[in-house]
Amino acid sequence: MILGDFHTHSKFSDGKSTVEENYAAAVNKGLKQLGCTEHGLRHIAFGTKRRNLPIERNTVDKLNEKNEIEVLLGIEANIYTSNGEIDLLPDDYRWFDYIVAAYHKTATNPSLIDFFRYNAKGLIRKKFTDREIRLFTKSYIKAITSNKVDIISHLFYGLPIDTKQVAQAAADYGVFIELNGKKVSIPDEDIYILADNKNVNFIVNSDAHSTSRIGDFSVPMAVVERLNIDKDRIVNWNKLVKFNRKK
Ligand SMILES: [Zn+2]
Ligand SMILES: [Zn+2]
Repeated sequence: MILGDFHTHSKFSDGKSTVEENYAAAVNKGLKQLGCTEHGLRHIAFGTKRRNLPIERNTVDKLNEKNEIEVLLGIEANIYTSNGEIDLLPDDYRWFDYIVAAYHKTATNPSLIDFFRYNAKGLIRKKFTDREIRLFTKSYIKAITSNKVDIISHLFYGLPIDTKQVAQAAADYGVFIELNGKKVSIPDEDIYILADNKNVNFIVNSDAHSTSRIGDFSVPMAVVERLNIDKDRIVNWNKLVKFNRKK
């Protein structure tokens, strides 16, 4: 079974429940690890606030004192520029055990030109030129090779990429590719491309925004079964996850 859920939201961003309620749900479901990941600071309306970060840390540390399951603090950071930058300042990293990074069309970008070159694309378009796909691919690769990221969440949610190149970067840097619990946005043929690179590892997460969805992996696991993906390629299948990125 999947032993840990590393993408969950609470009231610190747009979740309906508190971290403590999510924790109780995770214990109830028999999970061994819970990762708390609010939306990054540049997510319009839903992003967590910089002033919340020490409070989130303290909340997680308190829960770990119960010595029941391991609780980790992460964040669903936004890849918010075409250069693959994520919305954290150097001083922010000390709060986190790991970093999830994702593209959201609703993340703000300080450069208007880059906003239209990058963020706004997923907002207004469905079809993309080869040149744009090269730009999006470069952006993900830069995020991965920055060595600041542990998990790439919901690839293909809004932007298409050259999967083979992103797979190689993820393999080289030990970054896990998420199969998201709300919807697996990665097309089947691209999951096959990812799986073809034997050094790519997947992680299955719920992306829960309420307690009832904590530890609900039914959507991504149905994809894993249907595409016959080897479960040993999933880092949280029957084993505990250790994030090894040098910090
Ligand atoms: Zn997201
Ligand atoms: Zn999320």
